[in-house]
Amino acid sequence: MIYTLGIDIGSTTSKGMILKNGSDEIASSIVLAGTGTAGPKMLMEQLYEQSGLKPEDIAFTIVTGYGRKTFQEADDQLSELTCHSKGVSFLFPQVRTVIDIGGQDAKVLALNDQGKMTNFIMNDKCAAGTGRFLDVMAQILQLKIGDLEKEAEKADNPAKISSTCTVFAESEVISQLAMGVDMPNLVAGICQSVASRVAGLAKRIGIHEQVCMSGGVAQNGGVRKALQNELGVPIVYSEQAQLMGALGAALYAYERVMNK
Ligand code: ADP
Repeated sequence: MIYTLGIDIGSTTSKGMILKNGSDEIASSIVLAGTGTAGPKMLMEQLYEQSGLKPEDIAFTIVTGYGRKTFQEADDQLSELTCHSKGVSFLFPQVRTVIDIGGQDAKVLALNDQGKMTNFIMNDKCAAGTGRFLDVMAQILQLKIGDLEKEAEKADNPAKISSTCTVFAESEVISQLAMGVDMPNLVAGICQSVASRVAGLAKRIGIHEQVCMSGGVAQNGGVRKALQNELGVPIVYSEQAQLMGALGAALYAYERVMNK
């Protein structure tokens, strides 16, 4: 039995997955605390508890993500672009475009038919078009991040959020609330705003089917639906979208052990 561990330390969350023999998931966890916090330590504790394994049972560990350089317990590190591509193409071999929206950035990756990344484009300069934008808006509306989808589904006339800057958009949302725009339409407008920003990024690199969404924001059906409309193509995603980087890292760790 060969156990490998993939760790993905993001700006907002820490994620991990343990695989058996490079394919079967033994444990996975997402801790809502990212780099520079106790998140990675809590994550490791949860993974060992879930799997019943000890550190010495793990044959190889690869760490990825924005905070990977702060994590000392791995055997090696790889970029999140490499690991996301690997995780996504393991689950969806037909995917040629990955749209990864995390807590602090958005990336669009072009993959070839081997699942290898050939090009990418990224927004890490501006909170608009990232999970941060949604987190800020959910807070203003006193909603949980996981409830945005439910609200957006009920919309019949999504609000227009014209500000591209998160700070201005925040005032715009507050003033629309004050004018009596209802919650579902406001939330749908917020999801639409993220989708438009990311679609602009994606179109610069070119959209090739299949298109997959990964990262935490992929769990938000409001953003997925708006992005599908913007791009005019269906989007596939996994319930474990937030774990794609950790999965990819654990897969690479297995390849290292097998000397592939
Ligand atoms: P990072 O790797 O940068 O830490 P993630 O890929 O983990 O980021 O994504 C974090 C973002 O995912 C959060 O900012 C939040 O907007 C979104 N998110 C997290 N959980 C959920 C959920 N249950 N439903 C919808 N969106 C979510």
